[in-house]
Amino acid sequence: MQASDLVGCRYRLVQRRAHPDVPATPAAQARAERADAARAAVLAHLPGPSKNFRCLDLDTEADRWEREMATLEAMATGAHLITHAAFAYDTWQVDVDALVREGDAYLPLLITNHRVARRVQSAGSPSLPAVPTHRVGLSAPLELPYRLRHHSVDGYRLGMAARALEASDLDAGRGLIIGQDRDTAFYVDTQSYQPALERALEAAAPANLPTSPRRLKECADCRFWHLCEPVLRARDDISLFLPGDRGTPYVERGIGKVQELIDASLGEVSALAQAWRDGTVLLKRPEFVAPPRADVEVDIDMEAYLDQGAYLWGAWHAGEYTPFVTWAPLGGQAEAHNVAAFWQWLMQLREDAHAQGRTFAAYCYSAHGENHWLRMSAQRFGTPSPQEVAEFIASPEWVDMFSYVKRGFAGPHGLGLKLVAPQAGHAWAEDDFDGEESVNARRLAVAGDQHARQRLLDYNAGDVQATARIREWMSQGAPGVAELG
Ligand code: SF4
Repeated sequence: MQASDLVGCRYRLVQRRAHPDVPATPAAQARAERADAARAAVLAHLPGPSKNFRCLDLDTEADRWEREMATLEAMATGAHLITHAAFAYDTWQVDVDALVREGDAYLPLLITNHRVARRVQSAGSPSLPAVPTHRVGLSAPLELPYRLRHHSVDGYRLGMAARALEASDLDAGRGLIIGQDRDTAFYVDTQSYQPALERALEAAAPANLPTSPRRLKECADCRFWHLCEPVLRARDDISLFLPGDRGTPYVERGIGKVQELIDASLGEVSALAQAWRDGTVLLKRPEFVAPPRADVEVDIDMEAYLDQGAYLWGAWHAGEYTPFVTWAPLGGQAEAHNVAAFWQWLMQLREDAHAQGRTFAAYCYSAHGENHWLRMSAQRFGTPSPQEVAEFIASPEWVDMFSYVKRGFAGPHGLGLKLVAPQAGHAWAEDDFDGEESVNARRLAVAGDQHARQRLLDYNAGDVQATARIREWMSQGAPGVAELG
């Protein structure tokens, strides 16, 4: 058992033991490759060996047991930095990207693709001890204005590593974690993870594992779906329609099947269950209102890479797609110039409209990401200014289409752009290019792959056109959508 078995679906552990040969999905493989790439990039930036700093890199090709033994031996030599360590303990095992010596003990160091800490702005806010990646094991920690973000799987890994170190009497009581900001290693208290780890291990004990599947969000990307789905369908399980805990209130009332939910006539939820059964994607609510329109309209969609920055601002205006894009590393001049160019273009469009006495509106489908990266760009680069961004976001000229869609429709599978736009008659050039794929394509694009670059631009162009199409379709009253209730 590994830390990843302790999060999400516990039935996965049952399936993994029963069907060990089912291969990982392509998406999971791609995630693993990204994690490997992150690990390699960070390990390359850890301090190298010197007279007073002994480093040992354990052989990742070695058999697992050999690596575990090599880890114990490496610690016994007192090496300052041990990379690719591995431990086995009780019923579980854990890989530790590095062990960093601190006095007579070791700190486990974990490298992850999660955002592990968030910068805090206000005076008097908490701080976190941290050290630059290239000074790990060499420099004393500095207090940085960050707050830790919790990811269960990372906490379990660090908690497991601490337990394994404790078994050798070498636990320092704290660890290090490096996330999307590859240059900073944050110190964490590994003791604080122990109670949650204890509970998770208890829940994963064979006697406590579920005996049958229940559909969760993660089923969509699970290697065992082809085994679980027939079981769920055969019993018309309510989780097919209401995954995870969403079905629990009904199960507690004795409603465990989709058909029972339909027959219970419980208003919207029963109507949506019927829609799910019929394959209906959208129902129109009585509260439906068309979005506001303007003389000059532009649809916006932004693509960001992890926590590193926004690399593409795409705009659809007057039947033309205009991308503002950079393939250079994010966080520097290239990103600053790109967002400034986009902002100036957008503001010029608005100014021209106003000068001609025309109304202006910019549309976005769920503006959360765009607002975040506009604010972050303002904070980091100064153009646009924080005030300009705040005024624009708060203005009626920035229209979040998703708020109108949410008010106007209900759907058994949610109201994501990819579900709603086809109802409005939009088709993407490439069907299977989702968010996960775009993250992979971005990696290739940065490495110079022209095909990946074009795919990302086409994907973005598809999204802005989809937003425009929904807007027009809703203005016509969303023809073709049945009324709810
Ligand atoms: S398909 Fe769903 S229920 Fe089955 S093991 Fe995977 S996550 Fe669990």
